[in-house]
Amino acid sequence: MQTIDNFNFAGKKAFVRVDFNVPLDENFNITDDTRIRAALPTLKKILADGGSAIIGSHLGRPKGVNEKFSLKHIIKHVSELLGVDVQFANDCMGEEAGAKAAALQPGEALLLENLRFYAEEEGKPRGLADDATDEEKKAAKKAVKESQKEFVKRLASYADCYVNDAFGTAHRAHASTALIADYFDTDHKMFGYLMEKEVKAVDKVMNDIHRPFTAIMGGSKVSSKIEIIENLLNKVDNLIITGGMTYTFTKAQGGKIGKSICEDDKLDLALDLLKKAKEKGVNLVLAVDAKIADSFSNDAKTDYAPVNQIPDEWEGLDIGPKTEEIYANVIKGSKTILWNGPTGVFEFDNFTHGSRAVGEAIVEATKNGAFSLVGGGDSVACVNKFGLASGVSYVSTGGGALLEAIEGKVLPGIAAVKGEPYK
Ligand code: AMP
Repeated sequence: MQTIDNFNFAGKKAFVRVDFNVPLDENFNITDDTRIRAALPTLKKILADGGSAIIGSHLGRPKGVNEKFSLKHIIKHVSELLGVDVQFANDCMGEEAGAKAAALQPGEALLLENLRFYAEEEGKPRGLADDATDEEKKAAKKAVKESQKEFVKRLASYADCYVNDAFGTAHRAHASTALIADYFDTDHKMFGYLMEKEVKAVDKVMNDIHRPFTAIMGGSKVSSKIEIIENLLNKVDNLIITGGMTYTFTKAQGGKIGKSICEDDKLDLALDLLKKAKEKGVNLVLAVDAKIADSFSNDAKTDYAPVNQIPDEWEGLDIGPKTEEIYANVIKGSKTILWNGPTGVFEFDNFTHGSRAVGEAIVEATKNGAFSLVGGGDSVACVNKFGLASGVSYVSTGGGALLEAIEGKVLPGIAAVKGEPYK
């Protein structure tokens, strides 16, 4: 497989798929430019080699052309960060884009307008009436898949090589994230530096495991994490199931959970997961005590209770001190650690203690030689909130993509570059 380090971009045009899907305020100022910064090493390498970069990205979820989601809002900032005046094509298709791409000189960069202004990027029909029949839906899907071929071909025609640096969309088989790779031979398609780091980090926790391996899965619902938990049961030595999911397990085992969040239709599933963990010899660790609140609010009255003896009008919003200690001991004894999801409602300052304790234990284990990967939305927010990001081995930029990788699914954005099947 080709690698970005081995490839000399001199005199070459690269189509670089990045994830510039950054948050903007009402005046279109970027409020967090992490994603742009994450793609800089790749773009800088291409330009420094004497290559030129045709940059493609999506921004938001437009359902067609929409000023609000125009990438022109970020062009100035991208130029500043990259240190070159990045050109802009008002449309990722059409004559202007083609001409600008063709005229690019070594060391120059061109940002294409939001790829998702076209339905062909995602390959999903748009504008279907609510009452569309199955036939109509099928026909619309077929039509967009058909026109998608021309769209992909056109994007590919701008460049000599393809670089995918958008891990955040690696779980999508979209035109610019996967299908385009077919237009380049093995020597002319590769991951960018960010993608390489993400792939390596995922590989380390899924395939190159140093034991004991502990996964900490938090979050609100078991239902959204079933496949991940089932896949992890085949990999880990310790599985800490925490956050709102706790109470479904507690109730399933006959505990009293008051008003705590619970999925009543998943009680059997919880028992089944406990049974599976036992059969597979996995140490499934659940909370023993909770920080409870008399309402779902940061200012609620609080107390501590055994997790299976929560009074009727109260609810568990974080783990208690005994649980923190149990989790910390398991984590500190681990050599590979994966953390996804908070131990409680970390958005409320009075219920962050458990998540912070988990983060701190991971940092300590990392200092002692463990490999730790933190990823998936809220846990990234946690380590950032507590200033712990630099103390873990890797913080993934991919939410959904990381979770699908942990589920054991093939990520189209990765498979396509490797020339492996993904459809
Ligand atoms: P998820 O999106 O499934 O990863 O879940 C993350 C969300 O779970 C965060 O917004 C937390 O506030 C929420 N959460 C964690 N623990 C609890 C809890 N004990 N009760 C209610 N929500 C929780």
